[in-house]
Amino acid sequence: MTRIAFDKTGTLTEGNFKLLHLRAWGDVSRSEAMAYIYAMEAHASHPLAAAIISASKAENITVPSEWKIVDHSNLEGEGVHAKINGDEVYVGNIRLFERLQMSDKVPASELAIVKKWLLDGCTVGFMSIEGYGIVSSFCVADSVRPEAKKVIAAFGDLNIDVNMLTGDNTKAATSIGIGVGLKHDQIKSNLLPHEKLELVKNMIKIERDNAAEKRCFRGKRPGLILMCGDGVNDAPALALSDVGVAMGAGAALAMETADVTLLDSDLEKLLFIVKLGKRVTRTIIENVTFSFVAKAVVMGFTFAGYSSLWAAIGTDVGAMLIVTLNGMKLLPSKKNVRSGDGFDSFVAKGNKPAVKTMASPSEVPSFPLQVPEENV
Ligand code: ADP
Ligand code: MG
Repeated sequence: MTRIAFDKTGTLTEGNFKLLHLRAWGDVSRSEAMAYIYAMEAHASHPLAAAIISASKAENITVPSEWKIVDHSNLEGEGVHAKINGDEVYVGNIRLFERLQMSDKVPASELAIVKKWLLDGCTVGFMSIEGYGIVSSFCVADSVRPEAKKVIAAFGDLNIDVNMLTGDNTKAATSIGIGVGLKHDQIKSNLLPHEKLELVKNMIKIERDNAAEKRCFRGKRPGLILMCGDGVNDAPALALSDVGVAMGAGAALAMETADVTLLDSDLEKLLFIVKLGKRVTRTIIENVTFSFVAKAVVMGFTFAGYSSLWAAIGTDVGAMLIVTLNGMKLLPSKKNVRSGDGFDSFVAKGNKPAVKTMASPSEVPSFPLQVPEENV
């Protein structure tokens, strides 16, 4: 394993957003804007939707039952779209409104407030209603997972290159990324799902090219790329990477696409499995090398006429016992299981595994899962 790509929201962060500010302007009142955003986010799959829903409930905002909400769709990496009472409504990030060519219609005074939110490291969203343009902005914030910084430092110590890939804005991404100990060049922001996929594809290519260059000298194998994410937007990159790891609290599609699921979404488990994998590989190499050397020595003695049948049997049985005992060192000690440092600590701590469900149709991404044949 030479490189790890982490998603941000819900992976390095908890994914438990809080709504900090919501503003409305023009002919739309704050409570009307909030009802629109609530109606849109009620069907969304992004973690920030939960923050809007709970804040709306806390402010006793309701969606009038006569409202007709149709054609709802998640715009992965951008936001959500629906028709409310016949009007096109969009909720999402600035990138979405730049694409819709609406971003220049926000009043200057509101833009100044949004800039301040961005400087505070907020994830900023906007809402537009057909015929009115952008009429509302909001700011949500998420907290970093407590173990994220320690785990990233530990991967650095293992000489693994760590990157963060996110669809969020650069300011929010930098504030979280620097907070967990990453450098600016390890933080990639404003990415759409296919751009995350491209970056992972590029990492795989770099490793394969490096290995091809060195192969003529030392038979070097390409380094492996691990992708760790939680969202529908991460699914293509999880499928393409050599090892895809999904967070148990994330989207079902991410879990179905990944090779490994961290049931309790604890990043320390990821560090544990990577370290365990390295120890398993090292132990296999030790055992195979030891067995070959032992057999070669006995063969040498046999050809020189200094060996016997019993010596050969003894070496064979002895080598088998030694490699078995060497393999057993990989088993977690009782002390580690009790202290919560072992493979079984998840169960030992009394955690309940997340229930894995099939992806709902709304979670199926609207982009093609382009996985090159050699990776299928
Ligand atoms: P990440 O890569 O950080 O997990 P996503 O790719 O899922 O993020 O989303 C990227 C950005 O798109 C979010 O930071 C947010 O600004 C915007 N976005 C996505 N879904 C929604 C939504 N339902 N409502 C508003 N904004 C959204
Ligand atoms: Mg995510």
